[in-house]
Amino acid sequence: MSDGRRPLVAGNWKMNKTAAEAREFCTALASLLGPDPPADVVVCPPFTALEAVVVALGSSPIAVYAQAVHGAAGGPHTGEISADMLRATGVVGTLVGHSERRAARETDEQVAQSLRAGLDAGLMVVLCCGESLGTRRGGGTERWVAAQVASALAAVHPGDGDRLVIAYEPIWAIGTGETASPAEAQEACAIVRAVASERVDGAALRVLYGGSVTPANAAALMAQPDVDGVLVGGASLEPGSFARIVAAAG
Ligand code: PEP
Repeated sequence: MSDGRRPLVAGNWKMNKTAAEAREFCTALASLLGPDPPADVVVCPPFTALEAVVVALGSSPIAVYAQAVHGAAGGPHTGEISADMLRATGVVGTLVGHSERRAARETDEQVAQSLRAGLDAGLMVVLCCGESLGTRRGGGTERWVAAQVASALAAVHPGDGDRLVIAYEPIWAIGTGETASPAEAQEACAIVRAVASERVDGAALRVLYGGSVTPANAAALMAQPDVDGVLVGGASLEPGSFARIVAAAG
């Protein structure tokens, strides 16, 4: 973490928690974190719990992001949600390009469209990128990650920089219990920052690490100079564990 960049800790709930479960989680998390946590804190509930979470978190400092947004403003896209719909629900940001969606055939082009749609609606956008185990073993991590970032950021203007966050999430570390080492996370996050600097102010950009982050490894990851926070899946589902990860940013 650098002095000038406030850490960001985001929890991606994926397809977990009903609205009632989400409300219960929020009450517990808000009380554990108090009014002044040492990081920007974000939760990303499933679409069906967004409204309940926005209401439950009320005036707490915890922000609510969606897990995905469609690139179009409206129309024949069954099952999809637009950026304006998210805004109208009180949501202030969204993930785009999570590897689980890319694996379900979301293309680089669609990711770029979602990114643009989110920014145009005034949302914060966390762009996810990361390589597979095969790509890493073949020595292709830098090329892969650079290409994903460059492709998505082609749609970004320099003035968008303060609403953009990029999360480096190696696919081999997501949900596997196998975390990148702090040095591996640092190396990849530095590449992300360097590539993004061609489009936005890299010194101000927050770059997160994601992939099997836990209360035990979060501090060492966030101590790296180019790791400005973490995107957390499994360990964000329980308030105590997520709150300990937030505390590790302090
Ligand atoms: C994620 O889904 O973004 C993620 C990082 O998951 P986990 O922390 O469970 O590896």
